[in-house]
Amino acid sequence: MTTQRKFVSEFKLKEEMCEYGRRIWMKGFCAGNEGNHSVRLGNGKFLVTPTGISKGFLKPDDICLVDANGKQLAGKRRRSSEFQLHAHIYKARPDVNCVIHSHPPHATAFAVAGVDLPSCIHPEAEVFLGPVHTAKYVTPGDKRLGESIDPFIKDSNTILLGNHGVVSFAEDLESTYYKLEIVDAYARILILAKEVGSIQPLGSAEMKELIELKARFGMNDPRAKDPQNAACQSDFISRVRSAVATHGRMATGAGTVPAPSTSAQCGLEQTIAHLVPDRVKADEMEQIVQVITDQIMASMG
Ligand SMILES: [Zn+2]
Repeated sequence: MTTQRKFVSEFKLKEEMCEYGRRIWMKGFCAGNEGNHSVRLGNGKFLVTPTGISKGFLKPDDICLVDANGKQLAGKRRRSSEFQLHAHIYKARPDVNCVIHSHPPHATAFAVAGVDLPSCIHPEAEVFLGPVHTAKYVTPGDKRLGESIDPFIKDSNTILLGNHGVVSFAEDLESTYYKLEIVDAYARILILAKEVGSIQPLGSAEMKELIELKARFGMNDPRAKDPQNAACQSDFISRVRSAVATHGRMATGAGTVPAPSTSAQCGLEQTIAHLVPDRVKADEMEQIVQVITDQIMASMG
């Protein structure tokens, strides 16, 4: 973005912000008018998306110009109320020139479930994101949102906002947007993988190689100081392995609500029915499904 700031006109940057808004919307990362993104111009000025408009249909004219305190300097629309979060990141990270906040559904599912994204599983996530932490929930638009990410702001480029969404930040629009795509794709892979089988974490030797690779590319990783002891977050894996039967139910103060056995049985029958080849006749299939369901329910006690 340093190069962009020097050689790219403000209008061109506004056009790019509209283009990335379209990509964010096309990927389903923002429903309705959700989400916001901004670019640092230099001289204490920033371009930021307006409030109350879909990110899929932005025009250069809609983009607002603000100062570091969020005071609007130009633009016919009102700037996003979340700019305070962006300003907090720009202040803490002089190397950052772009911030994107949105609600990509798969990554947000982790933020809503209060489950940290695990590390030491997927090379792309390790190289381009590094550790992804979840910040405590704060009411959207509140200035405490910035403070909620303070524990992770120096060593991260992508943070899950508790019960809310994702914020990613980097040196330019392109790499910031890619982090958003990568974090949602990674979350989707994890959700799919747990349906396919048990998730196989990378070993410490493999993680050491990846972290050394990042260092060779000049990419920062807080674990580079001691790659042998790369702390792997396995919260998700341990939950999947030990608590499959409690997934998908609303958590309460007293623990997780037990599922009625009839609905468990019904879900099980549906799953088994999907596995039976199409050529099997309907009455035979019913019998097969019943026998397998009975056996599984009996083994579950
Ligand atoms: Zn939001």
